[in-house]
Amino acid sequence: MVDISKRRFFTRKNIDSKQIRLPWVNELQTFTDLCTRCGKCVGACETGIIEHADGGYPSINFTIDECTFCYKCAEICPEPIFNNKDSQPWNAKASITDSCLAHKNVECRSCGDACETMAIQFKLRLGGVALPEIELGECSGCGACVSICPTSSISVSNL
Ligand code: SF4
Ligand code: SF4
Ligand code: SF4
Repeated sequence: MVDISKRRFFTRKNIDSKQIRLPWVNELQTFTDLCTRCGKCVGACETGIIEHADGGYPSINFTIDECTFCYKCAEICPEPIFNNKDSQPWNAKASITDSCLAHKNVECRSCGDACETMAIQFKLRLGGVALPEIELGECSGCGACVSICPTSSISVSNL
């Protein structure tokens, strides 16, 4: 028997709207009401990035790997939680902090090399190495740039 009141507790207290849940899940409030925390998506994820997070609800951890948008988490889920595969998976975008090596004048382009959509562009500047900038319109929120960064300077969150 599922304890709805406990789910609502986590809905109100523990769910950060910027936290990455799962692709194709857009209604976070509905998600915590409908998800039974069965863990089927955790086992189905081909890159192993889905973890049981707060309250046992699944959540994405990009420090492990990227999302390939394979849709397996949605396919295996027995609950009516996921949107159609043709729709946009999420509004997640990457951002880079000042701890990036390039901000310390150390040449690094690992994130740019990892980005399939070429959303990370390096802008030349006088007196320093080129700085990475993210073209938000091109970023799919796949997270491929997160685990590759040697200084953990990149995070992906919902806009
Ligand atoms: S779409 Fe695929 S890679 Fe992305 S979270 Fe779901 S199962 Fe994992
Ligand atoms: S991989 Fe990390 S340290 Fe390297 S340029 Fe990108 S954000 Fe900076
Ligand atoms: S999240 Fe994916 S698409 Fe966005 S900048 Fe990083 S690697 Fe590129």
